[in-house]
Amino acid sequence: VAGINKICVVGAGNMGHQIALCCAVAGYQVKCTDINDEILKKAENFADTYLPQRVAKGKMTEEVAKQARANISFTNDIKEAAKDADVVIEAVIENLELKLKIFAQLDEICPPHTILATNSSFIVSSKIAPATKRPDKVCNMHFFNPAMVMKLVEVVKGPHTSEETAQKIFDLAKDIGKIPVMLKKEIYGFLVNRIVQAINREAMYLYDMGIASYQDIDTAVVNALGHPMGPFRMMDLTGIDLAYYIGMERYQESGDPAAKPSPIIVEKFIKKEWGQKTGKGFYDY
Ligand code: NAD
Repeated sequence: VAGINKICVVGAGNMGHQIALCCAVAGYQVKCTDINDEILKKAENFADTYLPQRVAKGKMTEEVAKQARANISFTNDIKEAAKDADVVIEAVIENLELKLKIFAQLDEICPPHTILATNSSFIVSSKIAPATKRPDKVCNMHFFNPAMVMKLVEVVKGPHTSEETAQKIFDLAKDIGKIPVMLKKEIYGFLVNRIVQAINREAMYLYDMGIASYQDIDTAVVNALGHPMGPFRMMDLTGIDLAYYIGMERYQESGDPAAKPSPIIVEKFIKKEWGQKTGKGFYDY
């Protein structure tokens, strides 16, 4: 993409380390930064094992792998990582205070042309942009987990975001092998998480009404709609605690009682039956 050569990824956790490597494989100069040295080491180890694995499987040439490894570096110094970046992709934990602090810091460190994008799942960039003096160069760039594999990227243009910024991030997503979609306006949850939540809400309603067991609701969705798993098994995978928090947040934000987590979610949240990570959710693991 014209004018974009250097990319900085802030936060090398679940999402950040894979977003960074995606960009490096596509030929961008990438600096990945995190405050946690252990996480940085893990991110570097991931690059060192993933790339040769792809070569061994015949999915990547040795040359591309070698170049990708040379393109990416890791540092705990955010100044060093961001000072000459054309685009920064922020992927730190989902906390507005922290994101505000980091965007203010990036605004100081980065040259005036640098675009600052956030990978946040729910926080729209208009909440973060006021921390900077360049709101026109701030937007959402939302990847899916695992970021090396999942093709979709949601680009969200806030009311403060310039056309040029949104288009550049859209083009960048394409250039790193993703399939971007453009949201012309901000909305809580963007496209995919809203659609998922709508399906979950209806599935939960049918269960709460005693229409069918959650096993049968999952069976219906898998076998008629072709989803790889039903909404209840999916919630077990993504975490019932997360479903609870998202429901509460949407309810507080919208005041819509329909957004409240369903009684079964509240019950499982209190019992700490949070899904795969606790060994029990709707199903046993
Ligand atoms: P994570 O907890 O795995 O990683 C966050 C990283 O940020 C950690 O390594 C942490 O050390 C680092 N960090 C914290 N403070 C920092 C600072 N001041 N400077 C630099 N690094 C700092 O979280 P994650 O799952 O990768 O999520 C990151 C973002 O991506 C969140 O906004 C989340 O909403 C979004 N997201 C997550 C997913 C998902 O499935 N996990 C999917 C899409 C988007």
